[in-house]
Amino acid sequence: MDKENDTNDGIVIVYTGNGKGKTTASLGVALRAIGHGLKVCMVQFIKGEWHYGELNSLKKLEPDLELIVAGKGFIGIIDDDHAFEEHVRAAETALDIVEQKISLDKYDVIILDEINYAVHLGLLQLGDVMRIIQNRPKRLSLILTGNHACEEIILLADLVTEMKEIKHPYKKGFKAKRGIDF
Ligand code: ATP
Ligand code: MG
Repeated sequence: MDKENDTNDGIVIVYTGNGKGKTTASLGVALRAIGHGLKVCMVQFIKGEWHYGELNSLKKLEPDLELIVAGKGFIGIIDDDHAFEEHVRAAETALDIVEQKISLDKYDVIILDEINYAVHLGLLQLGDVMRIIQNRPKRLSLILTGNHACEEIILLADLVTEMKEIKHPYKKGFKAKRGIDF
């Protein structure tokens, strides 16, 4: 195998599973990539209800890292007052943004945060997501996060890690912790 060529090609990474660490793992890769002078873009397909600490820290990494919060709050999980169609529109807009960012051919890594969940919920068509993955420039790496990654995307990916919950403080009734959970 030609190691030189291998390292120049991007890969498709999936972080899925019911345990904590999917979005934060993708941010770990972003931090590593930026250290090598690479350009990273993160598009959030479904945003959380609270203000995530990474929104502040990622601003400090501009312009090496660009963050786009495109989605609406978690559907049906926490006080969801958006109509399903609104979520669909937001997710489709997020996917359009990803396509635009890919076409700029400026980024080395693009993170599609919570996209697996958006596909699972039926906000996005699997075919549209597959097409974007398959047609990406060779050097671009994509990271798809979110639980319930579908089988077709897992088959297409080069690296898949399932975060498996062993323990989570929520189960003991602990509240989300600033700096750890958001
Ligand atoms: P993180 O952003 O911390 O890496 P994640 O991306 O793996 O978490 P998400 O499904 O995006 O997980 O959910 C984000 C929020 O839900 C975080 O506040 C996280 O602590 C919490 N969470 C993640 N996994 C679990 C779990 N197994 N049980 C309860 N809460 C969880
Ligand atoms: Mg997440």
